[in-house]
Amino acid sequence: MHQKRHEETVLSSATARTVAVYPGAFDPVHLGHVDIVQRAAGLFDHVIVAIYERPNKALAFSTDERIELFAQALGDLPNVEVTGYSGLTIDFARQRQAGFLVRGLRATTDFEYEYQLNTMNRHLAPTIESVFLMTSLQYAYLSSSLIKEVAAQGAPLEGLVPEVVARALRSRLRGAS
Ligand code: ADP
Repeated sequence: MHQKRHEETVLSSATARTVAVYPGAFDPVHLGHVDIVQRAAGLFDHVIVAIYERPNKALAFSTDERIELFAQALGDLPNVEVTGYSGLTIDFARQRQAGFLVRGLRATTDFEYEYQLNTMNRHLAPTIESVFLMTSLQYAYLSSSLIKEVAAQGAPLEGLVPEVVARALRSRLRGAS
């Protein structure tokens, strides 16, 4: 009896669909983000890129623009969807029945903040597990804010952002000047 129940648990956890949320501002998406999503798509059955509608920072792109740019940057990844959300990330994850949050980690500077965030999230939602993927070396120093800064000075953006984002940044900056 005991053994059977154990087998059922193992079986159901082995066959359960794994859903992960990858949350962020993504203003705009860059190649470091794309790399994390592509790797997460290989680890989970379904990945939801969740674009936070009202981050505590000045935005260059609207929520709809950030969603559109991320979706175009990914192309066709069948098990990934891109959507906006507001409110607590863990509430959104619960609504979507996601068991995991994915976060990317760059240099040690990210660690302190992610550790705090993770402690709070585990307090609020102990059953949602955070999974941290280390950035690929070539993207270790990429950040959306730095990209916006160099783009504003007219620097080339090849190798930093998908082509569609480079175009959007150039036209945004032309529009602003
Ligand atoms: P947030 O406002 O949540 O920091 P970001 O859009 O800056 O949103 O980042 C979203 C996620 O992507 C975070 O987990 C962040 O650590 C990760 N990330 C940002 N830049 C990189 C990078 N160059 N390589 C890998 N992960 C990254």
